[in-house]
Amino acid sequence: MAFRAVILGAPASGKGTISSRIVKAFGLEHLASGDKLRVNIAQNTPIGKEAKTYIEKGLLVPDDFMVKFIANELKQIRSSTWLLDGFPRTIGQAKALWEVQKLDVVLNLVVPFDVIIDRVKGRWVHLPSGRVYNNNFNAPVVPGKDDVTGEDLVQREDDNPTVVLKRLEQYEKLTRPVVEFYKDKGILNEFEGRTSDEIWPKVKSIISNFLPGQKIGKL
Ligand code: ATP
Ligand code: MG
Repeated sequence: MAFRAVILGAPASGKGTISSRIVKAFGLEHLASGDKLRVNIAQNTPIGKEAKTYIEKGLLVPDDFMVKFIANELKQIRSSTWLLDGFPRTIGQAKALWEVQKLDVVLNLVVPFDVIIDRVKGRWVHLPSGRVYNNNFNAPVVPGKDDVTGEDLVQREDDNPTVVLKRLEQYEKLTRPVVEFYKDKGILNEFEGRTSDEIWPKVKSIISNFLPGQKIGKL
Protein backbone atom coordinates (compact mmCIF):
# COMPACT_ATOMS: atom_id res chain seq x y z
CA MET A 1 0.00 0.00 0.00
CA ALA A 2 1.30 3.47 -0.88
CA PHE A 3 1.09 6.33 1.56
CA ARG A 4 2.99 9.56 1.02
CA ALA A 5 2.68 12.29 3.60
CA VAL A 6 4.20 15.60 4.64
CA ILE A 7 4.25 17.03 8.15
CA LEU A 8 4.24 20.83 8.48
CA GLY A 9 4.48 23.14 11.47
CA ALA A 10 6.46 26.05 12.86
CA PRO A 11 9.93 25.42 14.35
CA ALA A 12 9.62 23.33 17.53
CA SER A 13 5.95 22.63 16.89
CA GLY A 14 6.68 18.95 17.51
CA LYS A 15 7.20 17.65 13.97
CA GLY A 16 10.09 15.45 15.07
CA THR A 17 8.27 14.07 18.11
CA ILE A 18 5.03 13.34 16.25
CA SER A 19 7.01 11.86 13.35
CA SER A 20 8.78 9.36 15.62
CA ARG A 21 5.44 8.29 17.04
CA ILE A 22 4.07 7.83 13.51
CA VAL A 23 7.10 5.74 12.58
CA LYS A 24 6.69 3.61 15.68
CA ALA A 25 2.96 3.04 15.19
CA PHE A 26 2.85 2.64 11.42
CA GLY A 27 6.35 1.60 10.42
CA LEU A 28 6.81 3.96 7.50
CA GLU A 29 10.00 5.69 6.29
CA HIS A 30 10.74 9.09 7.81
CA LEU A 31 12.85 11.68 6.00
CA ALA A 32 13.58 14.86 7.96
CA SER A 33 15.38 17.55 5.96
CA GLY A 34 16.79 19.31 9.03
CA ASP A 35 18.09 16.05 10.55
CA LYS A 36 19.79 15.12 7.26
CA LEU A 37 21.37 18.55 6.98
CA ARG A 38 22.63 18.39 10.58
CA VAL A 39 24.26 15.01 9.94
CA ASN A 40 26.00 16.55 6.89
CA ILE A 41 27.15 19.46 9.03
CA ALA A 42 28.47 17.16 11.74
CA GLN A 43 30.41 15.22 9.09
CA ASN A 44 31.60 18.43 7.43
CA THR A 45 30.52 17.34 3.94
CA PRO A 46 30.30 19.90 1.06
CA ILE A 47 26.51 19.88 1.50
CA GLY A 48 26.91 20.46 5.24
CA LYS A 49 29.36 23.32 4.74
CA GLU A 50 27.04 25.14 2.38
CA ALA A 51 23.87 24.54 4.42
CA LYS A 52 25.52 25.65 7.66
CA THR A 53 25.93 29.25 6.46
CA TYR A 54 22.14 29.58 6.21
CA ILE A 55 21.09 27.41 9.15
CA GLU A 56 23.17 29.27 11.71
CA LYS A 57 21.46 32.51 10.71
CA GLY A 58 17.97 31.00 10.90
CA LEU A 59 17.56 31.39 7.13
CA LEU A 60 16.21 28.79 4.74
CA VAL A 61 18.66 26.97 2.52
CA PRO A 62 17.95 28.03 -1.13
CA ASP A 63 15.28 26.10 -3.03
CA ASP A 64 17.43 24.72 -5.87
CA PHE A 65 19.88 23.25 -3.36
CA MET A 66 17.11 21.75 -1.17
CA VAL A 67 15.09 20.34 -4.06
CA LYS A 68 18.12 18.49 -5.41
CA PHE A 69 19.12 17.30 -1.94
CA ILE A 70 15.68 15.93 -1.05
CA ALA A 71 15.03 14.44 -4.52
CA ASN A 72 18.24 12.49 -4.08
CA GLU A 73 17.29 11.35 -0.55
CA LEU A 74 13.81 10.32 -1.73
CA LYS A 75 15.31 8.20 -4.50
CA GLN A 76 17.06 6.14 -1.86
CA ILE A 77 13.78 5.29 -0.17
CA ARG A 78 12.55 2.07 -1.74
CA SER A 79 9.24 2.00 0.09
CA SER A 80 6.13 3.82 -1.16
CA THR A 81 4.99 4.67 2.36
CA TRP A 82 6.89 7.65 3.68
CA LEU A 83 6.66 10.82 5.71
CA LEU A 84 8.57 13.97 4.79
CA ASP A 85 9.35 16.32 7.67
CA GLY A 86 10.77 19.83 7.12
CA PHE A 87 10.32 19.73 3.36
CA PRO A 88 8.70 21.46 1.50
CA ARG A 89 9.06 24.80 3.25
CA THR A 90 8.46 27.22 0.36
CA ILE A 91 5.95 27.38 -2.47
CA GLY A 92 8.79 26.66 -4.90
CA GLN A 93 9.69 23.46 -3.04
CA ALA A 94 6.01 22.44 -2.76
CA LYS A 95 5.48 22.81 -6.50
CA ALA A 96 8.69 20.95 -7.33
CA LEU A 97 7.67 18.06 -5.08
CA TRP A 98 4.12 17.93 -6.45
CA GLU A 99 5.48 17.59 -9.97
CA VAL A 100 7.46 14.48 -9.13
CA GLN A 101 5.16 13.05 -6.47
CA LYS A 102 1.57 13.78 -5.45
CA LEU A 103 0.80 13.33 -1.76
CA ASP A 104 -1.96 11.49 0.05
CA VAL A 105 -2.07 13.62 3.15
CA VAL A 106 -0.52 16.70 4.75
CA LEU A 107 -0.45 17.09 8.52
CA ASN A 108 -0.10 20.61 9.89
CA LEU A 109 0.74 21.06 13.58
CA VAL A 110 -0.63 24.28 15.04
CA VAL A 111 1.01 25.17 18.35
CA PRO A 112 0.80 28.55 20.15
CA PHE A 113 3.77 30.89 19.85
CA ASP A 114 4.45 31.07 23.61
CA VAL A 115 4.72 27.27 23.80
CA ILE A 116 7.25 27.23 20.97
CA ILE A 117 9.46 29.84 22.58
CA ASP A 118 9.42 27.92 25.88
CA ARG A 119 10.11 24.61 24.20
CA VAL A 120 13.32 25.37 22.38
CA LYS A 121 14.98 26.41 25.65
CA GLY A 122 15.08 22.91 27.10
CA ARG A 123 15.50 21.01 23.85
CA TRP A 124 18.19 18.35 23.33
CA VAL A 125 18.61 16.17 20.24
CA HIS A 126 20.29 12.91 19.29
CA LEU A 127 21.92 13.91 16.00
CA PRO A 128 22.14 10.55 14.16
CA SER A 129 18.46 9.66 14.69
CA GLY A 130 16.87 13.08 15.13
CA ARG A 131 15.25 11.95 18.41
CA VAL A 132 14.19 14.98 20.42
CA TYR A 133 14.06 15.38 24.21
CA ASN A 134 13.06 18.22 26.48
CA ASN A 135 14.37 18.69 29.98
CA ASN A 136 11.06 20.16 31.07
CA PHE A 137 8.54 17.57 29.89
CA ASN A 138 10.22 14.75 27.98
CA ALA A 139 13.57 14.27 29.67
CA PRO A 140 15.91 11.43 28.66
CA VAL A 141 16.21 8.60 31.20
CA VAL A 142 19.89 9.44 31.72
CA PRO A 143 20.54 13.21 31.51
CA GLY A 144 22.42 14.14 28.32
CA LYS A 145 22.15 10.61 26.80
CA ASP A 146 19.90 9.14 24.12
CA ASP A 147 17.43 6.55 25.53
CA VAL A 148 17.93 4.10 22.66
CA THR A 149 21.68 4.19 21.95
CA GLY A 150 23.08 5.82 25.11
CA GLU A 151 24.97 8.26 22.87
CA ASP A 152 25.41 11.96 23.67
CA LEU A 153 22.62 14.47 23.16
CA VAL A 154 23.40 17.99 21.93
CA GLN A 155 21.65 21.36 21.88
CA ARG A 156 21.13 22.82 18.41
CA GLU A 157 23.08 25.99 17.74
CA ASP A 158 20.08 27.43 15.95
CA ASP A 159 17.91 26.93 19.06
CA ASN A 160 19.23 30.11 20.65
CA PRO A 161 16.50 32.78 21.14
CA THR A 162 17.71 35.21 18.44
CA VAL A 163 17.94 32.54 15.75
CA VAL A 164 14.60 31.02 16.82
CA LEU A 165 12.89 34.38 16.26
CA LYS A 166 14.40 34.56 12.78
CA ARG A 167 13.24 31.00 12.03
CA LEU A 168 9.71 31.87 13.12
CA GLU A 169 9.76 34.97 10.92
CA GLN A 170 10.92 32.89 7.94
CA TYR A 171 8.20 30.37 8.71
CA GLU A 172 5.46 33.03 8.64
CA LYS A 173 6.74 34.57 5.45
CA LEU A 174 7.79 31.55 3.38
CA THR A 175 6.18 28.41 4.82
CA ARG A 176 2.70 29.69 5.73
CA PRO A 177 1.79 29.84 1.99
CA VAL A 178 2.68 26.13 1.70
CA VAL A 179 -0.18 25.36 4.12
CA GLU A 180 -2.54 27.20 1.75
CA PHE A 181 -1.10 25.33 -1.24
CA TYR A 182 -2.09 21.99 0.31
CA LYS A 183 -5.43 23.30 1.56
CA ASP A 184 -6.27 24.11 -2.06
CA LYS A 185 -5.35 20.54 -3.03
CA GLY A 186 -7.85 19.29 -0.44
CA ILE A 187 -5.36 17.13 1.48
CA LEU A 188 -4.62 19.35 4.51
CA ASN A 189 -5.33 18.16 8.05
CA GLU A 190 -4.71 20.62 10.89
CA PHE A 191 -4.03 19.64 14.51
CA GLU A 192 -4.10 22.15 17.33
CA GLY A 193 -2.68 21.66 20.78
CA ARG A 194 -0.17 22.81 23.37
CA THR A 195 1.56 19.44 23.70
CA SER A 196 2.45 16.52 21.46
CA ASP A 197 0.45 14.24 23.78
CA GLU A 198 -2.63 16.31 23.01
CA ILE A 199 -2.00 16.24 19.26
CA TRP A 200 -0.86 12.64 18.80
CA PRO A 201 -4.19 10.75 19.19
CA LYS A 202 -5.78 12.93 16.51
CA VAL A 203 -2.87 12.36 14.12
CA LYS A 204 -2.94 8.63 14.78
CA SER A 205 -6.63 8.44 14.02
CA ILE A 206 -6.25 10.28 10.68
CA ILE A 207 -3.36 8.09 9.53
CA SER A 208 -5.13 4.90 10.49
CA ASN A 209 -7.75 5.81 7.86
CA PHE A 210 -4.99 5.42 5.29
CA LEU A 211 -2.90 2.67 6.82
CA PRO A 212 -5.30 0.26 8.50
CA GLY A 213 -3.92 -2.92 9.93
CA GLN A 214 -0.42 -1.64 10.71
CA LYS A 215 0.41 -2.94 14.18
CA ILE A 216 -3.32 -2.82 14.80
CA GLY A 217 -3.06 -3.91 18.42
CA LYS A 218 -1.34 -0.70 19.34
CA LEU A 219 -3.66 1.73 17.58
P1 ATP B 1 12.03 21.70 14.29
O1 ATP B 1 13.13 20.76 13.99
O2 ATP B 1 11.93 22.07 15.68
O3 ATP B 1 10.73 21.26 13.72
P2 ATP B 1 12.65 23.55 12.26
O4 ATP B 1 11.53 23.07 11.43
O5 ATP B 1 12.92 25.00 12.23
O6 ATP B 1 12.40 23.13 13.70
P3 ATP B 1 14.57 21.81 10.96
O7 ATP B 1 13.49 21.27 10.11
O8 ATP B 1 15.40 20.88 11.70
O9 ATP B 1 14.05 22.86 12.00
O10 ATP B 1 15.50 22.73 10.03
C1 ATP B 1 16.59 23.42 10.56
C2 ATP B 1 17.14 24.38 9.52
O11 ATP B 1 17.55 23.65 8.35
C3 ATP B 1 16.14 25.41 8.99
O12 ATP B 1 16.08 26.55 9.82
C4 ATP B 1 16.71 25.71 7.61
O13 ATP B 1 17.80 26.61 7.69
C5 ATP B 1 17.25 24.37 7.16
N1 ATP B 1 16.25 23.62 6.39
C6 ATP B 1 15.67 22.43 6.72
N2 ATP B 1 14.77 22.04 5.79
C7 ATP B 1 14.77 23.01 4.85
C8 ATP B 1 14.04 23.23 3.66
N3 ATP B 1 13.11 22.35 3.23
N4 ATP B 1 14.29 24.36 2.95
C9 ATP B 1 15.19 25.23 3.34
N5 ATP B 1 15.92 25.12 4.47
C10 ATP B 1 15.71 24.03 5.22
MG1 MG C 1 12.60 18.89 13.11
